[in-house]
Amino acid sequence: MKKLTMMALAGAMISFTASAQDSAVTDDMIEHANMLGQNALKSSLTEDIITSLTTEVGHRLAGTANDKKGREWAMAKMLAMGYDRVWEEPVTIPLWHRGSASVRITAPYQQNMAIVALGNSVRTPEGGLTAEVAQFDEYKDLVAAAPNSLNGKIAYVSLRMDGSGLKGYGYAGQARRNGSVAAAKAGASAIIIRSIGSDDNRTPHTGSMNYAEGVTQIPAAAISNPDADLLDNMLKYGEPVTIELNMTSHSHDPVVTYNVLGEITGTEEPEKAVMIGAHLDSWDLATGALDDGTGVSIMMSAGKHIIDGGIKPKRSIRVMLFAAEEEGLYGAHEYVRAHKEDHNDFGNTILGAEWDSGTGRIINIAPGVGPTSLNVVREMGAVFAPYGVSTLMTNTAKGQSDMSALGNAGMPAVNFGMEPTNYFDFHHTPNDTLDKVDMPAITHNAAIYAMFAWMAATVDVDYQK
Ligand SMILES: [Zn+2]
Repeated sequence: MKKLTMMALAGAMISFTASAQDSAVTDDMIEHANMLGQNALKSSLTEDIITSLTTEVGHRLAGTANDKKGREWAMAKMLAMGYDRVWEEPVTIPLWHRGSASVRITAPYQQNMAIVALGNSVRTPEGGLTAEVAQFDEYKDLVAAAPNSLNGKIAYVSLRMDGSGLKGYGYAGQARRNGSVAAAKAGASAIIIRSIGSDDNRTPHTGSMNYAEGVTQIPAAAISNPDADLLDNMLKYGEPVTIELNMTSHSHDPVVTYNVLGEITGTEEPEKAVMIGAHLDSWDLATGALDDGTGVSIMMSAGKHIIDGGIKPKRSIRVMLFAAEEEGLYGAHEYVRAHKEDHNDFGNTILGAEWDSGTGRIINIAPGVGPTSLNVVREMGAVFAPYGVSTLMTNTAKGQSDMSALGNAGMPAVNFGMEPTNYFDFHHTPNDTLDKVDMPAITHNAAIYAMFAWMAATVDVDYQK
């Protein structure tokens, strides 16, 4: 007789308790998962891993010597931890060099501003570029600019990212990602944007930007929030504002980097795997502690706790450390391509979950699986309830960050949601350092991922169904 207690909280959360004999997630599995969780919570491993990464390697800009150092560090660590198999898979990426960047307001009032090149940007001409600023409130206004209306000017988008509202990271980030194309189409010789960040520090935020085929490649950079305020104030006077921009960033020929994988091999269907992932690469302005050192340490630690737990999962668990996420999910896209086209085994990655959200404590999970397996994911979700993690009613998750490339290619996924943090104060800035990491929170997250990965790889279910 099925005994089911259902509790809906705020219309958005649900938790189940079901008797063991009718559940896919058995009492034995729950007991082992809780043991893994409790051991992870008592351990300093997650903290030790991120401290080691940020101290011994530092930044991991894709394609650089430090990127290689990071991969060697990750492989050596996972081998020492007792993963059954550790390997690399090649990914070809563009190699970008940041160079230097400076900007000065030359008229009507001379001032220096804090600026940083956007990833992938070309350099300014020798001797720099001096031009009048053409201000736009938002990306969409820049897109509407008529051809040739910005000839001889530097476009500037002044929108401030809204930390909690509609004009958040994704919306405001359009200016960073695609602003150079819109500005070049209207004839601009460069683009600067207000940093996509929620802080009030003179630490401009970098991030990737794109060029489009057939559109002139113009330099692109971000100024800090206080400098954008200064520029906005000067523009309000209504007089022409002129700036001098100097950048030496440039791209080299493509190079090969690697996704790094560590596997705990399953006992019954080892070719099938649950993938838990994070990206190993980072921007080069700091040590990439929040983005995504926390994810790297959470995943490696979760795997080690599963190894130490002593009961192997039935399917394999793969810790995936993606390459070149920052430049545009290169490692994730190549994984999909290679495992569909070269190996024809993409379907063996049966479920995926990523952490690329900094230091926030996990408070909910959102499934994205087949309708039949949804109840099984909810059974697993109920195991997390005592840890303060609820299961959302939705079933639309497609995977976060890199994992979205796999989710969009058809892999079932689970997204982990977190408490609000000040992540976007530090994201992609020289302030993304170890002191910003909430160690108890990432320890909690490693416990949740260990429990999740072990149960997900052990329970008898097809997540596609
Ligand atoms: Zn990231």
